[in-house]
Amino acid sequence: MSKRLKLGVISTSRALRSGRTLADSSEKTSPYFADERKSTARTGVKKRSPIKIEYEAAEDEANVKSTDATSAVEMKSRNVKESSTLKTAKTEECEMKDENVEQSVDSKDIKDEKRWMPPNWETILENVREMRKHKTAPVDDMGCHKCADPNASPSVSRYQLLIALMLSSQTKDQVTHAAMQRLHTYGCKPNIIAATSNVLLGQLIYPVGFWKKKVEYIKNTTLILVERYNGDIPKTIKELCKLPGVGPKMAHICMQIAWGEVSGIGVDTHVHRICNRLEWVKKPTKTPELTRNELEDWLPKPLWSEINHLLVGFGQEICLPRFPKCSECLNKNICPYASKNSGKKKK
Ligand code: SF4
Repeated sequence: MSKRLKLGVISTSRALRSGRTLADSSEKTSPYFADERKSTARTGVKKRSPIKIEYEAAEDEANVKSTDATSAVEMKSRNVKESSTLKTAKTEECEMKDENVEQSVDSKDIKDEKRWMPPNWETILENVREMRKHKTAPVDDMGCHKCADPNASPSVSRYQLLIALMLSSQTKDQVTHAAMQRLHTYGCKPNIIAATSNVLLGQLIYPVGFWKKKVEYIKNTTLILVERYNGDIPKTIKELCKLPGVGPKMAHICMQIAWGEVSGIGVDTHVHRICNRLEWVKKPTKTPELTRNELEDWLPKPLWSEINHLLVGFGQEICLPRFPKCSECLNKNICPYASKNSGKKKK
């Protein structure tokens, strides 16, 4: 073996013992080492790279997490701030709502406090009911609600109730009822009355108050009803009040007894007088219509339907237009009119 060959073997074996120099030497000496180098190099890369990647990944992840955490904290902080702001806003809103509710309650209280109601009105009303419980007044048996033919059709019945109301103005119930009986015997239907002469109609309704004027009203109203309402009566206050001789008092009572609807309080001369005596109006009123406005201002609506009938009968029997029977009245100790008049008598 030559010296050169020996040195090559030695350098090769040295190179084999040293991994670091092996690659360099193998690269130059043998394809086998070249493969091993590649393999080793790959292994090295494989071993180092993942660590780096993992570290970087972990670092990145940590950074991301940290960033996320920071962001989350910031977000949370922001959310807390926003939530706090919202909370504050909501609290303010609630407080405002509370204030509004309080204000609304306050204004309701003020409104209720300001709502005028006559003293002792409930006791007075209950006493009137007690005095009227036997239903002995003319209005109970001969009022307009009793003037329709029970065998008539609904529309004819409504027509008859309207005619009775027109006759009842300024007329006692007994007189109105008798006139209606004569009309029933003759034929109280829209087409029959429309074809009847004014003279004959006058004879039939006489002696109701203002009978001549009422003949005209009844004839003209009947012609309108036949022409525009097919013989029936209108169902609104507005339309009823457009009929000749029909006013608000009549229209409200008509709505109640003919249609079964309470549209307002029917205030006639009895209701007008008694409400003034009992001071159920803030100041004395001059007309039934003014009394109606005052009464509707404070009297609870559920009582509107009974008040006309109740007070009319009371006015016919006890609280008479002239010389009311105060000594017999259950309200004599709380009635303003009675106390004023008894004071005057004592003087
Ligand atoms: S006390 Fe006389 S005025 Fe007063 S409600 Fe009675 S009847 Fe009418």
